[in-house]
This record gives sequence, structure tokens and C-alpha cells, in this order.
Amino acid sequence: MSDDTDAQHGGCFCGRVTFEVSGEPVAMGYCHCSSCRGWLAAPVHGFTMWPAEAVKVTSGAEVIGTFLKTPDTISHRQFCINCGGAVMVQHPTMGAIDIPAANLPGVAFQPTMHVNYAEHVMRIRDGLPKHAGFPADFGGTGELIPE
Ligand SMILES: [Zn+2]
Ligand SMILES: [Zn+2]
Repeated sequence: MSDDTDAQHGGCFCGRVTFEVSGEPVAMGYCHCSSCRGWLAAPVHGFTMWPAEAVKVTSGAEVIGTFLKTPDTISHRQFCINCGGAVMVQHPTMGAIDIPAANLPGVAFQPTMHVNYAEHVMRIRDGLPKHAGFPADFGGTGELIPE
């Protein structure tokens, strides 16, 4: 990632935490799980998933807090301790980082799937695949359910 000419910049709500991403996301979509909804206080989470090495924090590392809902969670949720805004979700065991789409204004959000739709509270009829849990290539069953 030495060539960052294609880098896109993002950050938290107050702007103290900034980061950049390079290349292309692994996936974009919506997560409907109760953990994402509860943490973001939102009915659905628009995610952009990146290889961990594609993401670089460029300022504000000292104000990033990390919350683990359970000791063995795969999701290390990071937030800005200044504004309380979500920053990103580290998935260390997957080597991936999920950045809420709203934190990357320069990246066109092009969702291709819904995950954890079995937990949805907001129905979305957009014709995209609705995974009950996770797709098979995310370690899930790949089971699809109706919109
Ligand atoms: Zn902030
Ligand atoms: Zn989720």
C-alpha cells in the first residue's frame, strides 16, 4: 500500500480521527444484526469491508476507544472518545476492517447483499440477496431468506 494515489479519506463525526483506505473493499452491504443496530443506534448498518492492510489511521489514534461486547467477540468496535461516533470495526481473526459507509464519503456505497437479515427490524425491498446469517465465503451458511 505504498501507492496511495487512490486513497480515500474518512473519519469520525468530529473529525479528530481520520483514516484512509486504499484499493477496493472486499464487500459492501447491510448488516441487520442486533449488535450493529444497538452499537450504532440505527435500524441497519451500511458496511464497507476492507482488508486490514488497506486501512491506515492518519490522525487521532489516541482518541480511539475499543469496545468488545464479549471477550471472544470477532468484532472489536472502535469509536472516537471525543465525539462518541463510530470509527470502524476491527475483525482481527478475519484480517478485515468494517468501516461504516457514512464514514467514507468519497467511496460510492454500492451494496451487494444483506447479512443477518433474520434479525432485521427494517425491511428493505431492494432485490439484493438477503442472507439469514452470513454468506458462505464469510464463514456462514449462505442461507437466503425472503425480503
Ligand atoms: Zn470524533
Ligand atoms: Zn452486524
